[in-house]
Amino acid sequence: MIKLGKMKFKTETKRLLDLMINSIYTNKEIFLRELISNASDAIDKYHFLSLTNNELIQTDYEINISIDEKNRTLTIKDNGIGMTYEELNANLGTIAKSGSADFMKAMDDKANADKIDIIGQFGVGFYSAFMVSDRIVVLTKSPFSDTGYKFVSKGEDSYEVNEYVKADHGTEIVLHLRKNLGSEENLENSVDDFNEFLEEYTIKSLVKKYSDYVRYPITMLISKQVPVINELGEEDKEKTETKMELETLNSMIPIWKKLKSEVTEEDINSFYKSKFYDYQDPFSYLHLNVEGNITYNSLVFIPQKPPHDLYSEKFEKGLQLYVKGVFIMDKCKDLLPDYLRFVKGLVDSADLSLNISREILQQNHQLEKISINIEKKIVSELEKMLKNDREKYLDFFKNYGVNLKYGVYDKYGEKKEMLQDLLVYETVNGDSYITLKEYVEKMLENQDVIYYASGKTKEAILAMPQMDLVKKQGFDVLILKDEIDEFVFNIISSYQDKKLKSVNQGNLDLLSKEEKDKIEELKKEKQSLLEKLKELLKDDVSDVILSNRLTDSPVCLVSGEGVSFEMEKILSQMPNGKDNVKASKVLEINPNHQLFNVFESLYENNDEALADYATLLYDQALLMEGFAIKDPVSFSKKMCELMIKSNK
Ligand code: ADP
Ligand code: MG
Repeated sequence: MIKLGKMKFKTETKRLLDLMINSIYTNKEIFLRELISNASDAIDKYHFLSLTNNELIQTDYEINISIDEKNRTLTIKDNGIGMTYEELNANLGTIAKSGSADFMKAMDDKANADKIDIIGQFGVGFYSAFMVSDRIVVLTKSPFSDTGYKFVSKGEDSYEVNEYVKADHGTEIVLHLRKNLGSEENLENSVDDFNEFLEEYTIKSLVKKYSDYVRYPITMLISKQVPVINELGEEDKEKTETKMELETLNSMIPIWKKLKSEVTEEDINSFYKSKFYDYQDPFSYLHLNVEGNITYNSLVFIPQKPPHDLYSEKFEKGLQLYVKGVFIMDKCKDLLPDYLRFVKGLVDSADLSLNISREILQQNHQLEKISINIEKKIVSELEKMLKNDREKYLDFFKNYGVNLKYGVYDKYGEKKEMLQDLLVYETVNGDSYITLKEYVEKMLENQDVIYYASGKTKEAILAMPQMDLVKKQGFDVLILKDEIDEFVFNIISSYQDKKLKSVNQGNLDLLSKEEKDKIEELKKEKQSLLEKLKELLKDDVSDVILSNRLTDSPVCLVSGEGVSFEMEKILSQMPNGKDNVKASKVLEINPNHQLFNVFESLYENNDEALADYATLLYDQALLMEGFAIKDPVSFSKKMCELMIKSNK
């Protein structure tokens, strides 16, 4: 039995309607996206059935929008599947399962209750039209029903359904737009401008913005100024008249849905520039048409230059998300790991539901799969570039390498296996960048660790006293220039079973057994001098030892295990840095250096100058390590005295 006339909305529907009607949500415009996507779904359904049902004739599918300024209506019409009486009641009379239901759930959550702002994140669907309309008329006819139906609602607690004569299948939704609040003179004070939805320009832009890639033509009559044709059939250049022309507002086939073989690099480049507001071609891009377990199309780009605000807190990473060609959101951050924040692009998937909300997105397995998949593809593309086009890769690395390093370091090295082979470093022996793998391949026979040193330039590193023995052995040393490098190497810790070792750190273990024994013996012999020096410098260093690595330099500072000097410097620049952990400092003295003899004789003669000499020695070591000395004035005074004394 079909019951016509007035019917009550279910309570939850009523609540949703209340929310929509009283909504102060600022993005009311999304209603158009919702109605167009419903229309597109309806055509999809019709088309799908027509493939197997001969009674359904395939037509030229179309979604038409029309504006009636006089009556203040906006109409969206499709020739899709339409609705039967039962469907009309089930679909528009109650909250359809999907998006709207999720939305209501979120609204039940107290924390969200006053955040009307979340509307746009849900596919609140059909009901969103009540944000802009005070009356909605739906005229619909299903090919499986003899008659059409008319649904009318003011969004209050009831709606009305009656039979309606409609010749063609499909649905026509007539929105009676709300009046602007406030009087004519008082327009600025009106919160909402509903009149704008009666303007061709607004509708055109909204379709471009949200529905450009809907598969079916979205048409509208557009007014054009054309020259008047005179009696002779010629154009009269002086006079124009307004003519209405049917225009298709959307571009329909998105470039990313085309097969790779169908698009040229030029097409992609110009698409990139217009879509992502760049004046340069992308540095590199990937066009992904993935089918199978998950189905999606994606275009991802690496810009030539990193965005200027890439490292600012305000920077938002993410890819644009489309579902079945319908724009969902601009920066879906779940689609990109942090270390790929510089990547721009978009993803379009048919596996996701249009009603997906931000909250749900985070736990969405499909989306997670897509994200992992894209990450892998980008990484493997970079691997390829590193292998096949080293020059290009180095260009990339100069701009974005720091991000990859961050990727290795982040989350306690969760991704180090995947990313460490993408890191390249300069070395002291070569003049190009190499990978860890290449370093290991070139290691000398008697070398079993990977050496690295932090410094601003290669020259500075070569001049470091700690380098003496390493240089003598001919071992290569990776040069670490970025602040994050030492943190990254700490996380990697070893590569292909070879330990990563800083030349600035203690126990380098570079000597033969004989040499070691000799040093041990010497240590015992000089024990008391070393103890004395240690006492003199007790506030500054944790130990004073004889060096087994220095050849030309009299002294050097090394750090113990744990925090390195470079790390200490970086940590000290952070907020409250003064209190941060410090590296433990060990002073290494070269027993073969002339200066050592001077210390010995001062010590033996109980000379008071020993204390000054010790601080001078320590200050020198500090300077060589790039630390500031504690008391520059006293340092300079002592130096002067010494110079004067030596020339007396
Ligand atoms: P959703 O699209 O998430 O299902 P909506 O509130 O947007 O939720 O729409 C509710 C239902 O109403 C749709 O699932 C569909 O069955 C029906 N519907 C809406 N618009 C149309 C239309 N233009 N043609 C046919 N059915 C429609
Ligand atoms: Mg919908």
